[in-house]
Amino acid sequence: MIENTIDAKSIRAFRELLDRSSRIVTVTHMAPDGDAVGSSLAFRAVMQRMGKDVTVIVPDMIAPLLRKVPGAKEAVDATRYPDFAAKLIEEADLLVCLDFNALHRIGRLSGLVEKAKAPKVLIDHHLGPEDFAQVCISRPQDSSTCLVLCKVICGLGLFSEIDKPAAECLLTGMMTDTGNFSYNCQDPDLYTITAELVRKGADKESIYRRQFETHSEDSMRLNAYAILEKMEVFPKFGAALITLSRDELNRFKYVKGDTEGLVNRPLAIPEVVYSAFLREEDGYVKVSMRSLGNFPVNELCSEHFGGGGHLNAAGGEFKGTPAVGQQETLFRSTLKRK
Ligand code: 5GP
Ligand code: MN
Repeated sequence: MIENTIDAKSIRAFRELLDRSSRIVTVTHMAPDGDAVGSSLAFRAVMQRMGKDVTVIVPDMIAPLLRKVPGAKEAVDATRYPDFAAKLIEEADLLVCLDFNALHRIGRLSGLVEKAKAPKVLIDHHLGPEDFAQVCISRPQDSSTCLVLCKVICGLGLFSEIDKPAAECLLTGMMTDTGNFSYNCQDPDLYTITAELVRKGADKESIYRRQFETHSEDSMRLNAYAILEKMEVFPKFGAALITLSRDELNRFKYVKGDTEGLVNRPLAIPEVVYSAFLREEDGYVKVSMRSLGNFPVNELCSEHFGGGGHLNAAGGEFKGTPAVGQQETLFRSTLKRK
């Protein structure tokens, strides 16, 4: 059924660890997205059916639109409950690391996970995983961690344990990391697995509405403002840039997730192959980049903004404000590459 399966050695090693564990904890990256939340909650749901106690920890708040993913209310937010999260990690007998490749990506949890006595399993799809897990299932060729996790669950012989809520969690990540199957979506396995998840009751239509077509009035106006007033297009460089300052975000009562997808929008312009979005946070600027074809925004983000990601979707950050100087750096690096 599935062409690109997980190697038998990794599956065996994971199964051995699972068999020995009763207090399992999952951790995922900061500002958890659909793939991070979906993979964590799906793993928990399947393991619970196997009688395992699994706690999902997120390093910070789950964005409002993702709070409706089945089981999201059960996740422990380490920003609100730091001591509880620390205790859970210390006392876990297995740590499952989902959707990140480097410990710094889990923010305040990184030190705790690094020194935890429990063995670690990494299930992820980012390039270049750090060497911190006993079992490392890293598949940059797969479009989402949820897709990797589906294959892992298959490999463990537990696909029948995916119930409707777990199927919805998995499909959420598969859809959000591919822009509802519009990029990184040429893998036939993606559709084979989607068909199975829909068969299990996952309601793709309602996931689509929830994750892609639900916006508060403020967020709609913020995105419209960003494009109308703040988008700069540089046809000569094949580039576009959007910046939003703290004041602008406050004006539209910005909450996490409100600008999701905004960075993709300029790629609709035929001249644009590379799009950058700078959003001012408290004391630093979050960088988000997208590209088409072979333009490596992950290299740009790691060279200039201490970040990384995938060839066509990457991010990073820098200290300061999204000022003109930074924009120039951004485009000089583009020029070098052309
Ligand atoms: P987004 O633009 O949606 O925030 O992030 C797109 C992708 O870029 C993420 O899936 C992640 O792989 C990567 N990414 C975003 N921010 C960072 C960052 O600060 N550091 C690293 N290493 N990767 C990031
Ligand atoms: Mn992901």
